[in-house]
Amino acid sequence: MKLLMDRIRTSGQVEKGNILKVDSFLNHQIDVALLEEIGKELKRQFSDREITKILTIESSGIAIACIAARYFHCPVVFAKKSKSLNIAGDVYTARVESFTHKTTNDIVVSRKFLLPEDKILIIDDFLANGKAILGLSDLVRQAGATLVGAGVVIEKGFQDGGKRIRELGIDLHSLAIVESMDPDTGIVFRSEN
Ligand code: 5GP
Repeated sequence: MKLLMDRIRTSGQVEKGNILKVDSFLNHQIDVALLEEIGKELKRQFSDREITKILTIESSGIAIACIAARYFHCPVVFAKKSKSLNIAGDVYTARVESFTHKTTNDIVVSRKFLLPEDKILIIDDFLANGKAILGLSDLVRQAGATLVGAGVVIEKGFQDGGKRIRELGIDLHSLAIVESMDPDTGIVFRSEN
């Protein structure tokens, strides 16, 4: 998605530890007009598919998922992060290691919001090692729902999450794939190679 790649190039900052900072438009300050274009593009990518719910993870995925949901005309469910396992039995849980914080969270969704008849699209801001998307897809599996695919705004193609998810047969669409990034030489996107 050219608009997104241009914005990453002009406003993204490459940080230490393979972190791309996009907090001026995506996950701290939010450019809502850009998110609308992202929502439209995600809808275009999955236009032929029936989707009954969008599933994401707090907190950065929520804004993106909500604007995308305006085009999919479906509700958004976000998995909550919890430090301790909820054993109440009315939730689905999965263990997810955070790429940015290097901590492990149990992610939790109430059983009443993921139903066996649901057709789920997972949406997230970044794909790095794939832990977040794999955790979310495990919640979908536990619910007996159908995973239609996953839509990611920025995939870091030099990390192995995208490969792992595609190998599992998950229909993954990333709107921008960063092939390499360096604080001095900048960002190269996959389509530019
Ligand atoms: P994964 O689970 O695929 O390893 O990492 C994806 C999650 O980590 C996303 O939900 C995102 O919040 C965070 N993340 C991974 N890489 C980056 C990055 O380069 N920049 C930012 N801002 N978040 C990232």
